[in-house]
Amino acid sequence: MLIAIDIGGTKIAAAWVENGKVLERRQQPMAPDPIGFMAAIAQLVLGWPAPQQVAVAATGFINDGKVHSVNQNIIAFWDGFPLAERLAERFACPLILMNDGQAAAWGEYQVRQSASENSPDNLLFITLSTGVGGGLVLDRKLRIGPHGLAGHVGHATVSRQPTDGDLGCGCGRHSCLEKIASGTALGRQASAMFGRAMNSAELFELALTDTKAEAIINNAAMAVAEAISNVHMTIDLSEIVIGGSVGLADGMLQRIQLALARAPNLMQVPVSAAILGPDAGLVGIMQWANAKDA
Ligand code: ADP
Ligand code: ZN
Repeated sequence: MLIAIDIGGTKIAAAWVENGKVLERRQQPMAPDPIGFMAAIAQLVLGWPAPQQVAVAATGFINDGKVHSVNQNIIAFWDGFPLAERLAERFACPLILMNDGQAAAWGEYQVRQSASENSPDNLLFITLSTGVGGGLVLDRKLRIGPHGLAGHVGHATVSRQPTDGDLGCGCGRHSCLEKIASGTALGRQASAMFGRAMNSAELFELALTDTKAEAIINNAAMAVAEAISNVHMTIDLSEIVIGGSVGLADGMLQRIQLALARAPNLMQVPVSAAILGPDAGLVGIMQWANAKDA
């Protein structure tokens, strides 16, 4: 019995897994502090049997069992938080820990590989969610990197600017992709544009009838396309997979595809939606754990 957990900036998902099959899936909001976080974990696994293994995908980069937010505004207490140690106190069993974008990249790579002989060898997963994260499979291997950073495309800079002109990212840079195209960034730009508190889902709704709302989303899609071309020209990819609640929102994939179609031919690469939908990270970390077991 394995418990898989995916920790994002907004939500935590957990799955009770037996022999590779999900028996139950639950979700809780992400908490802003360690005590609330551990309470949410306890709530998620309430009544589940003691696991033989816990497999965790978490936003941020992971070094030596500790998690760090690249953007300190996403999860403030992710500042070297000893996630592996805290979870080891809660579950007395082996634990694996990986970045959520990397886990999702592995899940999406695996699902394509089992579906087709012509599956991509080089795949970049991009999650447009609370922040913008990602993961990279190169030559059929998941890349984690010596600092756990591989795939963190959200903090690559782009020449497009957010519509509210607010360029400073919580990672310490300016003009990061995350500052334009994350759910947080879309909500911020919408709130500035329309003079009232708005979130990303409300912006997508409004974009059905309002051209200014559409322009914010389209600008974000163009920034994503720019980042895709940058990575493609650096490492030469076969496929890009888009996930996260913003990436999977109505029409976002099509907007990114249209924006990328305007790039020179050489800078274009096929872009598709996450086959595993919002559970790419959860399924990815589960499969990674199973592979490690085998
Ligand atoms: P996490 O970051 O925890 O992995 P999500 O992938 O759900 O979680 O991303 C959360 C972000 O997506 C939030 O900024 C939220 O406002 C935004 N969001 C959630 N649902 C939608 C939707 N239907 N359309 C557009 N944006 C959404
Ligand atoms: Zn940044």
